[in-house]
Amino acid sequence: MFKKLRSFLVNDIGIDLGTMNTLVYVTEKGIVLEEPSVVAINADTNKVRAVGSEAKKMIGLTPENIRAIRPMRDGVIADAAVTDEMLRIFIRRAVGHFKIFRPRVLIAVPSGITEVGVRAVRESAISAGARSVQLVEEPLAAAIGVGLPVNNPDGNMIIDIGGGTTEVAIISLGNIVTCSSVQCGGDSMDAAIINHMQKKHNLLIGEPTAEKIKITIGSAYPLEEEKTMEVKGLDMGQHGSRLPRAVTVNSQEIREALEEPINRIVYTVRKTIDGSLPELSARLIDNGITMAGGGSLLRGLDKLISEQTGLAVTVGHDPLKAVVNGTGIMLQNSNYLFSQPQNSLIGKGTRL
Ligand code: ADP
Ligand code: MG
Repeated sequence: MFKKLRSFLVNDIGIDLGTMNTLVYVTEKGIVLEEPSVVAINADTNKVRAVGSEAKKMIGLTPENIRAIRPMRDGVIADAAVTDEMLRIFIRRAVGHFKIFRPRVLIAVPSGITEVGVRAVRESAISAGARSVQLVEEPLAAAIGVGLPVNNPDGNMIIDIGGGTTEVAIISLGNIVTCSSVQCGGDSMDAAIINHMQKKHNLLIGEPTAEKIKITIGSAYPLEEEKTMEVKGLDMGQHGSRLPRAVTVNSQEIREALEEPINRIVYTVRKTIDGSLPELSARLIDNGITMAGGGSLLRGLDKLISEQTGLAVTVGHDPLKAVVNGTGIMLQNSNYLFSQPQNSLIGKGTRL
């Protein structure tokens, strides 16, 4: 009864502020919101027209005066005002209007974020109605979310492949010991596919179509049964006329197109292993590597990384929700969490 009353008054909130998707976790409820990190803005009035999936639907289809923006696209806050607005709307949607107390908010941010970015996220959350704000490095939240024993004096490696960035971290004693972040993830794969379709098939396609190709037939390692798919786009005809046309593409050519971004991700993983303490990297032989984030779902990527590193690689449970689930688990200890210095970033020097 008391618990019920308390939860009616105030819940703590965990947020995965991803480059592609934002997810919100509310204690005692679980994940209550899952939306693309997209804001549609009317360029004439500078007013927000839509956020989330409604805004994403407008990408590439918008009349000229409406711009669809992904404010977190590169893992850094490109547009503080738009991020602010997006966070505010998502937090409000997640908790509703009629709360007596303001919530405490834990936000997972990309580990490449600048100090200015950290301040901007914190201020956004406060202005969106948070009572206090704590930030955690995304790879640490992801590792917790997939159930890695992060508090052990051991080495555990997590690779989180999102839309705009890939983050690679080795975690020990509740802290990120070694970490690299590269601006290469699902977006770069989509861009490589757009490029390929243009060069090889003279066909113009947009990002949503490229993403569909990647998810439907994309791969990083030869498939047991190669796939084909029909793709519709705009023919860049030799006669200056642009007409809709359909072509059939196969999984081999898409794999070749994806080679460049995938090699960058693999290189980052190898670099992180190389740069870590010998004792820690030795632990990876037993513990292997765990992947999270939407990009980890690319067919055969686990196999390729395993082959390239000589280590066992597994895709963690529910990889698209790993980070937000991690914040949910961290909130079980919320009194401790929010008693940490408010200007710190958990995962970097702050023990869990
Ligand atoms: P972020 O944390 O940056 O918001 P996510 O972890 O939500 O990103 O992952 C989004 C990325 O994952 C997108 O680029 C999306 O296309 C990609 N993705 C989602 N599902 C798949 C899949 N089955 N195969 C390959 N890529 C996928
Ligand atoms: Mg993410």
